[in-house]
Amino acid sequence: MKVYLDNQATTPIDPRVKEEIIRCYDNFWGNPASAGHAWGWQAEEMVNIARGRVARLIKGDEKGIVFTSGATESINLALLGFRDSKPKRVLYSAIEHKAVLDVTKELVHCGFEAVQIRVDNSGRLDLEMLKNELVKPTLIVSIIAANNEIGTIQDLYEIKKLCRSKNALLHLDITQLLAQKEFDYSKIGADLLSFSSHKMYGPKGIGVLYLNQIARDEIRPIIFGGGHQSGLRAGTLNTTSISGLGIACKILSEELPEIQNHLLKLSNRALDNLRAQIPEITINGSTEHRLPGNLNMSLPGLNASDLLAKLASKVALSTTSACLSKSGGSSYVLEAIGLTPAQRVSSFRLSPGRFNTIEEIDFATNEIFSTYKTLKK
Ligand code: PLP
Repeated sequence: MKVYLDNQATTPIDPRVKEEIIRCYDNFWGNPASAGHAWGWQAEEMVNIARGRVARLIKGDEKGIVFTSGATESINLALLGFRDSKPKRVLYSAIEHKAVLDVTKELVHCGFEAVQIRVDNSGRLDLEMLKNELVKPTLIVSIIAANNEIGTIQDLYEIKKLCRSKNALLHLDITQLLAQKEFDYSKIGADLLSFSSHKMYGPKGIGVLYLNQIARDEIRPIIFGGGHQSGLRAGTLNTTSISGLGIACKILSEELPEIQNHLLKLSNRALDNLRAQIPEITINGSTEHRLPGNLNMSLPGLNASDLLAKLASKVALSTTSACLSKSGGSSYVLEAIGLTPAQRVSSFRLSPGRFNTIEEIDFATNEIFSTYKTLKK
């Protein structure tokens, strides 16, 4: 048996999404910007259908959707798009995805002051610090709604209230949240949202930046060309991937409660199995405000990289985010929530997905335990 338990790095494609992509390649390969013939109209129609599906999932307005190449590009546009705006001040949490951290560095090059807001031991934002930092005029606050490493979900209503009271724009990275939890834009109402298709069983290389009217009026593009997407993101639309993303969103709109139950069942099973064998296991991140498909744990005395290396061909787990694991970096997220170096070394993430089964979890946790025992010797 081989078990993939790294669904927060990326998810396999849902067969229904794949079917739609193939249908689109076969039938609707025209350029949606071709206004003069049926091939173009049909492709445009496919994009419009997908746009409607994305808007329905987030309960937002179709007009606010800009298709990008993924959440990284969405985040770049969401923040760099305001490089000429004032006041030149940006706030962001200590546990943002690398894309936000690197883009804020770029904003500093553009003359911005960038201030990092602390999180507590569970990964939740220090709202008092946010409130105090918002006293100084601030253009934009960028917050990861649910963290990709530890699964902690933020208090989005409170964050939004604080930003609104000081007229600061709010950008939420909902990449992980949207794949596993309800997100109702009509209630939360941030100014900008970034998310990605490949975390929700859709194709890679496609994502969305959602903007409200206030953000649309002020933002400037970062990619220039033929004026596509109201001039906000030039380039021929990736019709096939957009259609696939549309189906991925439709599935989430229709099946989220069952998906959540399933993920929670799998996570609980994994934790119960491991705790029965290794009672001293600890959970990193919030136990209360957490994605159902995230288990980040420390096993005392373990070097998690050794465990992962031994299991690599049988069970996919991770020690940190996919981009950091490639560059050999250690987890700044675990550091930000106060883990000691020894605890960080002993931590790994198990992220089940909706296609995993209880049998797979039992197999994987047996493998983890027997490898742990061997390594401890
Ligand atoms: N934000 C979060 C929270 C993520 O987990 C990821 C994926 O790694 C990204 C942004 C970047 O997404 P993409 O791979 O679509 O560029």
